[in-house]
Amino acid sequence: MKFSFDDIRPFRTKGLIRLIIMSYVTLGFVWVVVSHSLPGLFSDDPQKYSRLILLFDVSLIILSASVLAVFGSRFLATLSSQQDEFYRMIRNVGSARGQEFFPALVYSLAETTNADYAFVAKFTDESQQRVKTVAVFSHGQLVENLEFDLEGTPCGVVVREGSGCYPDKIRKLFPLDPLTHRLEVDNYVGIALNDFSGRCHGVMAVAGKGALGNQRLAESLLELFAVRASAALEGMASREAVDYMSMYDSLTGLPNRRMFAEQLAPILIYARQKSEIRAVLFLDLDRFKNINDSLGHAAGDQLLKAVADRLTRCLRHGDLVARLGGDEFMILLQGLTQKQDAAKIASKVLDSLKTPFKILGHELHIALSIGIAISPEHGDDVDTLLKNADTAMNRAKEVGRNTYQFFAAEMSTISITRLGLENDLRKALVRNELILHFQPQYAMEGDRITGVEALIRWQHPERGFILPGDFIPMAEETGQIVPIGKWVIKEACEQSRRWCGAGLAPIQMAVNLSAKQFLQQDLPDVVAGILKETGMDPAYLELEITETILMQNLETTIDQLVRLMALGVKISIDDFGTGYSSLNYLKRFPLHALKIDRSFVKDIGEDSDDTSIVSAIISLAHNLSLEVVAEGVETPAQLEFLRSQQCDRFQGFLMSTPVPADSVQKMLGRNLLAADMR
Ligand code: C2E
Ligand code: MG
Ligand code: MG
Repeated sequence: MKFSFDDIRPFRTKGLIRLIIMSYVTLGFVWVVVSHSLPGLFSDDPQKYSRLILLFDVSLIILSASVLAVFGSRFLATLSSQQDEFYRMIRNVGSARGQEFFPALVYSLAETTNADYAFVAKFTDESQQRVKTVAVFSHGQLVENLEFDLEGTPCGVVVREGSGCYPDKIRKLFPLDPLTHRLEVDNYVGIALNDFSGRCHGVMAVAGKGALGNQRLAESLLELFAVRASAALEGMASREAVDYMSMYDSLTGLPNRRMFAEQLAPILIYARQKSEIRAVLFLDLDRFKNINDSLGHAAGDQLLKAVADRLTRCLRHGDLVARLGGDEFMILLQGLTQKQDAAKIASKVLDSLKTPFKILGHELHIALSIGIAISPEHGDDVDTLLKNADTAMNRAKEVGRNTYQFFAAEMSTISITRLGLENDLRKALVRNELILHFQPQYAMEGDRITGVEALIRWQHPERGFILPGDFIPMAEETGQIVPIGKWVIKEACEQSRRWCGAGLAPIQMAVNLSAKQFLQQDLPDVVAGILKETGMDPAYLELEITETILMQNLETTIDQLVRLMALGVKISIDDFGTGYSSLNYLKRFPLHALKIDRSFVKDIGEDSDDTSIVSAIISLAHNLSLEVVAEGVETPAQLEFLRSQQCDRFQGFLMSTPVPADSVQKMLGRNLLAADMR
């Protein structure tokens, strides 16, 4: 079926052509009668008679020519007005853009084909069993869209066969189609709308009561507009996809922040009227960055998807889970009768992550910190609730992670306090408020100090003694860690020299490096400068970096490590076991020691998994010719176990907490004494 302009001509011009032929026949008949009988009435004279005949002939020719001219011009005028009308229709449809297109199309189709109904419909899902109209024109007006199953309908045939035409009695052919019966449709012409790959994605049709007026016209018009309608359907699908993307998170398929906020707003208004409790839970994965840094983003993404899945499954149907971005999620709980209900659900959410995740061949443990804000108690608008839930989540992180916290007004003050601290920290270095404490490290026999770890403290003039956990993350965020870190290395080296100056044997001096500090291009030069300036023997300086730093950017890391090792200093891996670093990688780095994270040491004897991890780390490290240092040894039992596993060194409260330099000096003095006595 191909469209041609001829298809539209017979439509309204048939009557006119009939009229012209009838007129011509009538005129010819009148001419025959008149030219043979009338001249005889006026004259018997043969000469006059023949002149009269001539006169009649001439006048009849003039008359018939005039009549033909009138009808001919009317015919041409009608034809051209029809063509104009047709072009206008094409223009109207063609110029309609965006949302106007389908209404303009169905309107024009119905008007031009004189149909009672015209519609365009698209599939509701991949199964292609059901369609939903995108525009319907019915009896002179646009009406509401409708959805229907294709089974047993003329549209179903169109989808299967590409087109379908039923000029009349359609209800008999499709007895099970409720729609044709309800609308009392008799005729139907439809065409499948295919996308550029030829896949059907909708139907366009006209239908009406009684017999179809002009089948060819209807078929041709549908054919004419099918390509444009298909393109518009595709455009509509991609616009819907964009809308979807602006409302949903592409990784997890969960609603995003915008959608969450849009859904929350009316719920809060409703809750205000009904005085019901709603809770917003702000979730942040604990140490997710470690996984991303050590196993890569693909693993991180998989984990986020798996977490999204667990969250969705552990909540009720009416609760809304959204991903805000990164490792942050949000949950809206409705229909709570009391505040404690939110706490119960938060515990359930925490429990849901307890079973380890299996991601790309790794078994990953991940926990969450949750902040809870209740509406209306902690705010009755979206922004306040989200902000307060976020503040409460930060508090949950501060109190040790893997837990939840309700928002409390004082928490806002904590943030303000933090702001104050930030300013103070800028001045702390010049005001000499930073000091180093040293935690001794022991050989396994238990009484010989082999080295110390330098740990920073801040003696704040008003707030007193502040531990590194409360200001190092802030210093890392603001970049102040770079000058502070440099000061630590220098101070540690100077202290080491002072002990030597006091006649003590040199011992290992371990100094922690933060990620930002490690990534400074000039770090090896800075260390070299300090070593030179202080006269410290590089062999006694041990720089501790975390696994996460190690895995960040392998090329740069190796380069930086080699430059540091070239100075003669040692490098050890701190908090080993928390960063998911691939053990294979360890071989590639020029390392001196591994420090087993204290979270594993703590569980020795209590948690069989952790106990076997400790044994595994020790034997792995020894296979790689690395020394093993156990951190956080608090009990004789832990020490005994570590000794049995041939751990090389340890540090922990069992022997000594971090102490000021002069205390270490006394301990080292006793060390010396003990050695002399031996
Ligand atoms: P870290 O390097 O793993 O240091 C060991 C931490 O464990 C120290 O906490 C120490 O006091 C604590 N610890 C040692 N033995 C035990 C024990 O038996 N039980 C328990 N519960 N804890 C024990 P501290 O001094 O609060 O330092 C915390 C973290 O702050 C350090 O962890 C390190 O990552 C960071 N840090 C400390 N000083 C510096 C520094 O100068 N620069 C940088 N970048 N980070 C530092
Ligand atoms: Mg350390
Ligand atoms: Mg550590």
